[in-house]
Amino acid sequence: MKRKTFLKTTAVALGGSLLPAWSSAEDEKKKPIRFAHITDIHVKPGIVPETGMAKALQHVQQLHPQVDFIINGGDSIMDALEVDKQKTQIQWDLFHTILKKENNLPIYHCIGNHDVWGWFIKENLAPDSYRDGQGGKPKDDRLYGKTWVVETLEMRNRFYSFTKGKWHFIILDSTQMNPVGGYIAFIDPEQLQWLQEDLLATPKDQFVCIVSHIPILSICAALFFDRTEANGDLKIQRNLMHTDFLALKKIFFHYPNIKLCLSGHIHLQDELDYLGIKYYCNGAVSGNWWKGAFQEFAPAYAVVELSQDGSFKRTMVSYE
Ligand SMILES: [Zn+2]
Repeated sequence: MKRKTFLKTTAVALGGSLLPAWSSAEDEKKKPIRFAHITDIHVKPGIVPETGMAKALQHVQQLHPQVDFIINGGDSIMDALEVDKQKTQIQWDLFHTILKKENNLPIYHCIGNHDVWGWFIKENLAPDSYRDGQGGKPKDDRLYGKTWVVETLEMRNRFYSFTKGKWHFIILDSTQMNPVGGYIAFIDPEQLQWLQEDLLATPKDQFVCIVSHIPILSICAALFFDRTEANGDLKIQRNLMHTDFLALKKIFFHYPNIKLCLSGHIHLQDELDYLGIKYYCNGAVSGNWWKGAFQEFAPAYAVVELSQDGSFKRTMVSYE
């Protein structure tokens, strides 16, 4: 099928089924909130990633005015964790160029692990690979860690919240450094304190949608590898799902207005219903890091519809 025809068909299909037209002022109040949750774009120089990111954004624009805004779930660029300043800058420049050209919708960003700069630049490679012009170490640079991504994406903070109509959105920062190597998914003490205060301050008649890069709860986190344990046990690695799920679950239990949690990171898709909250892991725009489908899942993004009565619906959309 030609791309134009496909886009038209998809837009009509969405428009016909879950995106009805609204007209009167009274209807306007009842109008659901609709947004695209795009995650794991992993853009890098190259024809496939560059046209892929552009195609995904063009596809989302076709859904406007039914889709009001975008939430970017993180891992916007291929990787900043292990590469020097110059290579990181090239990736962010590319991300901004494509976003500016292909997107007209408001966009809210969430930090992914690969958006964090310099944590894993190898010390022995640093003098050559880290070209800041001063021969310093990445961790002495002002942009080290999450500062760069927060600044370049003009985020208010590495975690933040906002409200639209009856819905309150909480954007979390999942990725914390493991001092002995790698990273672990959890909410650090400062962020946890803020989260509890934010939930407490949210009016009880508002519904809550939480977004994290790494899933808070997910079954596909256990299915990322074909096999983990030799004896057949399934293991969920601490960098694939929040290690503080049991603590978060206890907090969430006090807030029946928390309705859904969205994530990416795994590049697979799942849907879990646990203690009255839906947890959706929403695949990846880049699929198998721009090499086609990852396992059974083609490159995709989610359209999420939130109604003013607290009900909601997620639809996965293949954009290719
Ligand atoms: Zn990730």
